[in-house]
This record gives sequence, structure tokens and C-alpha cells, in this order.
Amino acid sequence: MLIAQDYLHHTEAIEATRTALGEGAPAIFEAAFTHDNVKIRVDVLRHLDEGGFELIEVKSTGGYKSEKHLPDVGVQLYVLLGCGIDVKRVSLMHLDQTYVYPGGEYDPQRALASTDVTSEAFAYIESVPGHLDEMMATLALAEPPEVPSGSGCKQPYDCAFIGWCMRDEPPPDYSGEVTTVESVLARLDKLRFPLLFVDFETLNPALPMFVGTSPFQTSRVQWSIHTLHADGRLEHAEWLAEDAALNPDPEFMRTLLEALGTEGTFIHYSPYERTQLVDIAVRHAEFRQPLIERIPGFRDKLVEKLVDRGISHADLPTIGEGGLADFDLGARVVRDGCIHRTMGSRQYSIKVATKLLARDLPAYESLVVSNGDQAMVATYEMLDPETSPERAEQIREDLLEYCRQDTLAMVEIYRTLVGMRAGAER
Ligand code: SF4
Repeated sequence: MLIAQDYLHHTEAIEATRTALGEGAPAIFEAAFTHDNVKIRVDVLRHLDEGGFELIEVKSTGGYKSEKHLPDVGVQLYVLLGCGIDVKRVSLMHLDQTYVYPGGEYDPQRALASTDVTSEAFAYIESVPGHLDEMMATLALAEPPEVPSGSGCKQPYDCAFIGWCMRDEPPPDYSGEVTTVESVLARLDKLRFPLLFVDFETLNPALPMFVGTSPFQTSRVQWSIHTLHADGRLEHAEWLAEDAALNPDPEFMRTLLEALGTEGTFIHYSPYERTQLVDIAVRHAEFRQPLIERIPGFRDKLVEKLVDRGISHADLPTIGEGGLADFDLGARVVRDGCIHRTMGSRQYSIKVATKLLARDLPAYESLVVSNGDQAMVATYEMLDPETSPERAEQIREDLLEYCRQDTLAMVEIYRTLVGMRAGAER
């Protein structure tokens, strides 16, 4: 039985919960209780055959993580016991990462798994009154406490108040020149033309959308390549998944390998692109040899991942002559060789580098799709069969523009750095 009253009608929800308990409902969804000034809604309160109840907390995660989930179930258990509910078992229900989606309707019996956290939850409730005292004391203050923002604002979750707490922080100042480390910029001299600037977009939905994939499995849905030739010519190629049912990885890899050609340098901005190609090759054996022959530098990483999975790599070709070199422009040049107050060893994203080194490009903020999270949401909408063809086509154009901007930004960053290096040598 579902307790339908929302959180603004907690008193009515408690009344409905009491009625459901009195009628012996086998399971109550969104059951409402209050104890010690704490209001809770229990995802599922289930009658056990042997008597008593099971508290089930449902999370869209791949498993139980105590630092994230224990306080949540612990405070619910504290309130339920305080209300006289005989809780015998506490469980966290989550997605089962071994589930392979066969297509069609989802089978909740297969897609969901449950982790028993009874003993941890009962041990945790001893600490709940102390935590509640602290929280109540804070809530009783006339003014919000002065708490400096820091690492706790993002772990274990991004805090919802971060915009408020950071409201007085000045925005990053991208004015002023970037200074460079010449010995690092010299790495650009060794790149073999043509230069292939490459960027990917991916999806990793909690509920798998492609047949044959599992919860949170990454699928590659888009690539963009800008090819800069030695004579200055610039070409562009791109691909974006169209079929909402088929796992796009094989088509992604096939079209990408074809577009890359056989000469030059595969330039990416972080290890992400390498990780994605290696992952496809681990999952699809037919791509292992073509990938190694095309980008020999990825062989070691592929072997490492195959060993991790207990998969033989005996038939992988050894590295011979030819193939594309690979180069991480972000880590090997921008991170190591560019100095500006907005950059740090962990902060050299392509968005920041574009503001500093590709100033003529449109700002990412001016694009309809301006970051990876938006790209994922837009891709889900585009692939949704319910989306009208006109809307899907518009989203498709927005997504192509976003990925194209990433690779064009890499080209411009490269050109700027080469120009700075030439200027320094004069
Ligand atoms: S952002 Fe959240 S965690 Fe960080 S100081 Fe503000 S309220 Fe506290």
C-alpha cells in the first residue's frame, strides 16, 4: 500500500500509515512516522512472515556504502523503534550490477538486489541521539553558523546548499596571460602529423537502456575528430548513436577506427578516451587486435585490464611498426606546462583551458549543451522513443555542436601553445 500524502501533509501521512498497519498491509511504501522531533518516510516497511518488520531503503546505486547509506537507514531505524515498530531486519535495496538487460520490460526481481545491513544499522542507532542533539542545537540558532566550505561539501554527496555558501566567492578571474614551461611545450614539436584531436561522450544509466548491458555500464554514444594536417588544413568528422535499442559500442568503435586512418597522432585531453577504447576492446574481443594495430600505445593498458578480468591476452599482437602515436594534450602539456592562477595540478579542464588559450571560441556557456552532464541528459531524451522526431533532431544538432566544440577547442589550444613556443624562440 502506498502512502500518497506528500511531505507537506505529514500528519495525514502518519494517519494513513497507522490505518495501513492496522489493516495488516503486507508492505507499506512511503510509510510516515515521527519520533523525537524527527519525521521520516520509509521507502518500504514490509511485514515478515516470521513476525515483525523489515525496513527497506531503496537507492539507485550499485551496492551498499556505509558512509553514504548507514546514517540514512540508521535514523529511520531509530525513529521506527521509538514508535514501537518491531523492526527485525534492515536492508538496502539497490541495482544488481550482474543483471544483463535482455530488452523489453525490466524485471525488478532480476534488476534489483538487497544487502542485509541489520547488525550495522542496530549498532549505528546508539550514535543517533548525539547527532540529533547537535542538529537540533544548530536548528535552534537565530543565525546560520559560520562554517567554512571545504571538502565536506562534496563528500559523500554534493551539498545542495553549495550555491548559497559560496555566494560571496568571487568568480574565477581568467584575465591575464598564461605563462608556460618551455621544456614541456617542446613536447609538441615531436607530434606526428596529421594531428587527430579526439573527444567522446558516454552514457552510464542506472537502469540499462541498451540490450546486453548492465546497470551503470558505460556505453560510448558519440565521437568527434578534428584532423589538423601539416599544411594547416583542418577537417572534421563526427558520429552520434541513433538506435535506442542497440548497444552503440561496436558501431562507435567501427566508425571511429575507420575515421582515424593509419597515420599521425591520436590526441586526447585526458586519459578518458583511452580508458573508453580499452574498455570496448575488453568487452568486445573482435576489436582488440584492430585497436592495438591502430594505436599501439594502448596495448599495455589493454593487457592490464584483460589480466584484471582474468582474460587471456596471448593472442594480442606485439607492437610493430606503424599505427598512430597517442598523446594526452591535457596532462602532458596544459597541466605540466601552463601556469595561471585559475589552474592547478588537478584543475586544468578543457573548459578552463579554452577560456585561457582558445579565447576566440564561443564560451561553453553559450551552447545549448555546455557540459558532460547536460550531454547525457540530452542524449537520453534524444534516444527516447517518446521524443518527437523534430525534437530529437534539434537535440542531435546541439549534441554534435557540443562535442565538436571540445575537439575544436583542443585544436585552438594546440595552435596557441605552438604560437607561444615559436614566439619564445624568436
Ligand atoms: S555547502 Fe553544505 S556542507 Fe558546505 S558549508 Fe555549506 S551547508 Fe555546509
